[in-house]
Amino acid sequence: MGRNEGQRGFGRRAVLIGGGAALVGVGVAARDELARAWWRLPGMEKKRVEGELDHAGAVWTAASRSNWRRADRPDDYTIDRVVIHVVQGSYRTALRVFKDPGHGAAAHYVVGKDGRVAQMIRELDVAFHAGNRGVNERSIGIEHEGFVDRPRDFTDAMYASSARLTAGICRRYGIPVDREHIIGHVEVPGTDHTDPGPHWDWDRYIRLVRAVPAASPSPSTGPSTTTAS
Ligand SMILES: [Zn+2]
Repeated sequence: MGRNEGQRGFGRRAVLIGGGAALVGVGVAARDELARAWWRLPGMEKKRVEGELDHAGAVWTAASRSNWRRADRPDDYTIDRVVIHVVQGSYRTALRVFKDPGHGAAAHYVVGKDGRVAQMIRELDVAFHAGNRGVNERSIGIEHEGFVDRPRDFTDAMYASSARLTAGICRRYGIPVDREHIIGHVEVPGTDHTDPGPHWDWDRYIRLVRAVPAASPSPSTGPSTTTAS
C-alpha cells in the first residue's frame, strides 16, 4: 500500500514541476524497460516490493497467504488465459473471503460495480481461483461484484474497468484477445461453477478489451501525469 501511495505522491510532484515531468516520465519508462529485461533472465526470481501493483488503476489489498502459491510467472509458467468470475456477492464480501485463510481460494483481482479494482495477489503468483491446477498456473483470475442471475449488477463502469484490466494483462503476456484465451470460470475443465453466467455480455466485453488504446495512460508513471488533476 505504501508503495502505491508513494507513486501517487510522485505523480502529484510531477504535476507541480510542470515541464520537467516529461523528462522524469521518460526516465521511469527506461528504467521499467531495463527491469523487464532483467526479469526475463532465466533462473533469477523477480524482485518484489510489498504492495507493488501489476495494474496501475488498482489498489493493493493482500489475499491470505493460504489462497495462492508463490511462483515466478511468466518464467516458470506461461500465462495465456484470463478467467472471468462473478463473486455471487459484493466487492466487500470478495475481499473478506479472499483474506480468509480458511476459504482456500482467491483471485488476483476484484472489480466492483463502480469500476474500482483491487489487486490481491501478484500476477507472478498462482491464485487458487479456477478449481483446476493447470488452469490456475497459466491464468490470471478476475472476480466481478454481483450475482450471475442479476444482469443489472454488470454495470457500464464495471465492464469498462475490467476491459482495461484485461487489455493490460493481454499486452503484458502477449495473450490474444479472443474467447479461446479470455474464458469464463464455467469453461474451465472439471468445474461445477457457472459464473459469469448467461447475462455476462461476452461480445461486448471482448469488443471493449480490443478497443482499449495501446498507450493507455497510466496514473502513476509517464508524461500523462502532467495533465492529471
Ligand atoms: Zn468463479
